[in-house]
Amino acid sequence: MTPTASSAADRRKRQRLGKIASLLQKVMPSPAMELNHRSPWELLVATILSAQCTDERVNRVTPALFNRYPTAADLAKARISDVEQLIRSTGFFKHKAKNIIACSQTLTERFHGEVPPSMDELVTLPGVGRKTANVLLGHAFEKPAIVVDTHVKRVANRLGLTTSDNPDTIETDLQQLLPPSQWTSVSQRLLLHGRYLCTARAPQCNRCPIHIHCPWKEKGAR
Ligand code: SF4
Repeated sequence: MTPTASSAADRRKRQRLGKIASLLQKVMPSPAMELNHRSPWELLVATILSAQCTDERVNRVTPALFNRYPTAADLAKARISDVEQLIRSTGFFKHKAKNIIACSQTLTERFHGEVPPSMDELVTLPGVGRKTANVLLGHAFEKPAIVVDTHVKRVANRLGLTTSDNPDTIETDLQQLLPPSQWTSVSQRLLLHGRYLCTARAPQCNRCPIHIHCPWKEKGAR
């Protein structure tokens, strides 16, 4: 594709995403973060626990976890077997227990027990990659951030906003199509759209508010 043809295609994609974003805004005016939390640290721990697990299940274990370990300093000193018991139902509990304790130790040792508000620092924490860091930036620190989870990855591909399977590339693709002021809200709406309507196995295309803008060949009829 020549540079001119490519920029015209990008412009069309940007316009289409603009229409998708305003339609999703109508049906989801305040796209909620569904992991319960009262502080950046609680959101960090809940996000680590949410890997390969539903938010609903995480929300069932975090009250007891945070009741027993109210701060990063408390969790840093926890016995791993005690933490494993508390988070067992979230799956991969041995790995997650190790990560949330190590993460809390690093926060205590290097950041005075506070979650740092920058990507560069967040990704130095054990168990924290770009996805988790973006959750924190967007939902705890109100900084522009695009969270690419399994739902955003699927929806962005079906909507033709990316052709990549790589979360970092999808993040960059979406960043280039949206002003930073919309990164957090639009990616959260795409995530919720994927979680509840544009699901992996049975997308409900007949109820989809953005059906008209969806180029996915396998989409269902309206
Ligand atoms: S039309 Fe179907 S596949 Fe396309 S975005 Fe809507 S639910 Fe997903």
